[in-house]
Amino acid sequence: MLEPLLQLFYPRLCLACQRQPLQRQQRALCTSCQYKIKPTNYHLFEENPVAERFWGRLPISRASTAYHFVKGGILQRLIHELKYGHRPEIGEELGRSYGRLLAEEPFWKSVDYIIPVPLHPKKRHQRGYNQAARWASGLSESLGVPWSEKFLLRASYTESQTRKSREERFANVSDAFVLRQADKLRHKHIMLVDDVMTTGATIEACAKHLLKAQISLSVVCIALAP
Ligand SMILES: [Zn+2]
Repeated sequence: MLEPLLQLFYPRLCLACQRQPLQRQQRALCTSCQYKIKPTNYHLFEENPVAERFWGRLPISRASTAYHFVKGGILQRLIHELKYGHRPEIGEELGRSYGRLLAEEPFWKSVDYIIPVPLHPKKRHQRGYNQAARWASGLSESLGVPWSEKFLLRASYTESQTRKSREERFANVSDAFVLRQADKLRHKHIMLVDDVMTTGATIEACAKHLLKAQISLSVVCIALAP
């Protein structure tokens, strides 16, 4: 009773356009915005532009970024809100949507654990949540695979990555992670997830630690930065 009343006076608005009121069953996006976010379908192919980035760098089974990133587009706005606008539900909703696509493919059903790239505790405290973990949680819900933050942790604070070259970034982040309880991951299929992939240096640094547990590794991010 209360919810329809609240909706009447304070309609929940679409998080992307911030104009359209959301229908009851819609959690974050209106129908028109939902249609404007285009899945890449990279998860259907072993060879794709994201997987290619890791060739010769990492032994990865499959890699995908979920949606096409268009400068100034809806997805860019959503990711900005997810990271800086205190909207964790955006990560969850994108994860649920993409998880439904992954669940249609037998390969992705073989994932044992979803592990998000950890955020430094200080940053997590400021933001209130780890956006990669919210994405992991949405994927987990649709895929029916558990996610966990207990295995991969952030060890030390890294300076802002934005003004560094690829080599500098890599040197900077490679020692920033710690793997715990590696024995529980042994021989499992792990899906490492993050929000936006830029150079892939953070993924590489995390993967280096995870691969010590003799796992098979796949990577799924929300989008690939142009
Ligand atoms: Zn909208």
